[in-house]
Amino acid sequence: MSIKENLAKVKETLDEGVTLVAVSKTKPVADLMEAYEAGQRVFGENKIQEMTQKWETMPKDIQWHMVGHVQRNKVKYMAEYVSLIHGADSLKLLREIDKQAKKYSRVIHCLLQVHIAAEDTKYGLDENELLEIVHSEEFRQMKNIRVVGLMGMATFTKDEGQIRKEFKYLKSLFDQTKGSLPGLKVLSMGMSGDYRIALEEGSNMVRIGSSIFGARD
Ligand SMILES: *Cc1c(COP(=O)(O)O)cnc(C)c1O
Repeated sequence: MSIKENLAKVKETLDEGVTLVAVSKTKPVADLMEAYEAGQRVFGENKIQEMTQKWETMPKDIQWHMVGHVQRNKVKYMAEYVSLIHGADSLKLLREIDKQAKKYSRVIHCLLQVHIAAEDTKYGLDENELLEIVHSEEFRQMKNIRVVGLMGMATFTKDEGQIRKEFKYLKSLFDQTKGSLPGLKVLSMGMSGDYRIALEEGSNMVRIGSSIFGARD
């Protein structure tokens, strides 16, 4: 099936109000353009250099989402154009994003990444760290970032019960955090293998790569 057909098939399964991030990491611009021609405008990448190259060559009405782990010293390369950073996971990183955003007179939207998986290889805040940031005075003073939601990745497993439990947990943190951060509206959870479960558990932003563009090498 073509990228266009894959995209249509995925979109069929999404309710209105759910944002589809087409995760295009490692894929050539020609593939992204095929999705673009089919109407897709939100793309996700996990390497700043690759995303920046694609941003430079592709149409300017695309929203670029950084879905991967962010190294602080590279924030400056995407500060001019990035539309949403999914992986904000420390006050230090937020401080750097705030600083770089200011240089472009921008307010960069971020999601706080929460560690919900059983594997300890995945990045993200634990519950206490999340609440610490949310309640920190320094964070509240930052003018050039806006935390608009939470992001999490479930364990890579066939055990649907476990995946569901992890998504449920993130949703509960989302509801809890909303009390302190009224601007919270995005819940980014779900990838090709588990997004149907994520949607059932309240996700409103899914990050889908291989089901659209095919397997990566
Ligand atoms: C690669 C990636 C995805 C997409 O994964 P697929 O399984 O190809 O859909 C989603 N989220 C993050 C953070 C990723 O790195």
